[in-house]
Amino acid sequence: MLVDSHAHLDRSRYADDREAMLGRAWQAGVGAVLAIGIGEGPAEMHQALDICREYNGRPSLPRLYASAGIYPHNTTEADDAALAKLDSLLGEPDVIACGEIGLDYYHEGAPHDVQRKGFIRQLEIAAARKRPILIHCRGTNESTDAWDDLFLVLEEQWRGTGLSGIMHCFGGGWEQARRSLDLGFLVSFAGNLTYPKAQPLREVAERLPLDSVLVETDAPWLAPDRGKRNEPAFVVRTAQVLAETMGKELEEVAVATTNNFKRLFHLTEDVGNC
Ligand SMILES: [Zn+2]
Repeated sequence: MLVDSHAHLDRSRYADDREAMLGRAWQAGVGAVLAIGIGEGPAEMHQALDICREYNGRPSLPRLYASAGIYPHNTTEADDAALAKLDSLLGEPDVIACGEIGLDYYHEGAPHDVQRKGFIRQLEIAAARKRPILIHCRGTNESTDAWDDLFLVLEEQWRGTGLSGIMHCFGGGWEQARRSLDLGFLVSFAGNLTYPKAQPLREVAERLPLDSVLVETDAPWLAPDRGKRNEPAFVVRTAQVLAETMGKELEEVAVATTNNFKRLFHLTEDVGNC
């Protein structure tokens, strides 16, 4: 059984077949999915939790968990009301993480200082609620600018909490992976690990210990077959490529990534077969 550690299940692209899509994930061996609660902005932060409530308990579907957070480019909307909403969502038992939050200097959007301020305010809320964080980090083209700023913030504002997190859709180099492990974070690989041009990323994955990795889809984006709509069932393909890259059996990677997910979030219930 696998865990898809990052999927945007609330997107309207699933409006017509959400239950069938989750059923395909279960059939493919996906025992749990972390539904990301960022929506198109803070007004939609609750939608991932709504989806958990709608589908959990139905037979032959993965166990769903939710996150809540304000995406870097939506931090222009991170006012007191939005942050209060985040705080109350993080108090819900099924909202196990704060994210995806972080810094994105790649796309045009919120100014960098607004992103940093919104990020730090969310770290304070996540720390008070004792919720691990899901990090989105992307620098300007080949630059590590966003990563450098990210680690400055995490060292100052997060390390002391003793809480952990996930580097979602990891796209950094070895230095960024090493610093993530040093902070006690897990490194999560998405479908881009399978792309032909992703050899540098696979070289990072190859060096990581099994107890530090996760797999995710980032669905509906980043399908292993580019251009198609992604969905949690396709996380199997990323796990296969990760297993080949690390020189392990798929089964070993499935057990390790599921146990890593459970350990990070202190989950005691069964997730699939683990
Ligand atoms: Zn995402």
